[in-house]
Amino acid sequence: MSDITSNIKSLKEQIPPSVKLVAVSKTKPVSDILEAYSTGHRYFGENRVQEFLQKKDLLPADIEWHLIGHLQTNKVKLVVPFISMIQSVDSFKLLMLINSEALTINRTVNCLLQIHIAEEETKFGFSMTEIHDMLRSEDFHMLNSVRICGVMGIATFTDNTYKIQKEFRNLTACFNDIRREYFKDDRNFKEISMGMSGDFKIAVSEGSTIIRIGSLIFGERKQTN
Ligand SMILES: *Cc1c(COP(=O)(O)O)cnc(C)c1O
Repeated sequence: MSDITSNIKSLKEQIPPSVKLVAVSKTKPVSDILEAYSTGHRYFGENRVQEFLQKKDLLPADIEWHLIGHLQTNKVKLVVPFISMIQSVDSFKLLMLINSEALTINRTVNCLLQIHIAEEETKFGFSMTEIHDMLRSEDFHMLNSVRICGVMGIATFTDNTYKIQKEFRNLTACFNDIRREYFKDDRNFKEISMGMSGDFKIAVSEGSTIIRIGSLIFGERKQTN
């Protein structure tokens, strides 16, 4: 068995079947993705629009692609036709733009609201104040071409598992608050995307429904992304 095949197999044995594994293939060649695909895996994540567009043309059409990196507004139009889920929606402006591009091509785009849970200033994401302002606004209710499926978060990069656990627990609490207040009868609002190679076990025990795993499947990346 190749490394990629056995890595996927081993990961799937470590998580409940209800948790979706998104294989983060950023910086990795198409051949690696095909190897993962050949195990039956269909969920892949990329963080750069150009790289995603180039790769997806060379790969089977039944792959479900997730965008996990910050999306610049000028690239929305490029990804909307091909993406299964945009996990990294981090502003109201971006969400409105995704909606209008989706409307243009008669699509509904699955989105997660990225919430800032880490200590680091650099990580993108909404604050809970911004989330409430957006979800209470009239403009939000006009958006019919985006489907809000839940939340996404990235924990602080640290060895302190207690801190990571606290941040994931906070994201789950945010998810529950948002659902209770705005999505009570919306069964699409069900996802909590949290957990990467270094912290997925903590994330799963704190209620993650989607984990995003790169290096544990494909090996370490050369570039830092
Ligand atoms: C790169 C990346 C991942 C995967 O990271 P690994 O540590 O390699 O598993 C997950 N989520 C986001 C948002 C990323 O940018």
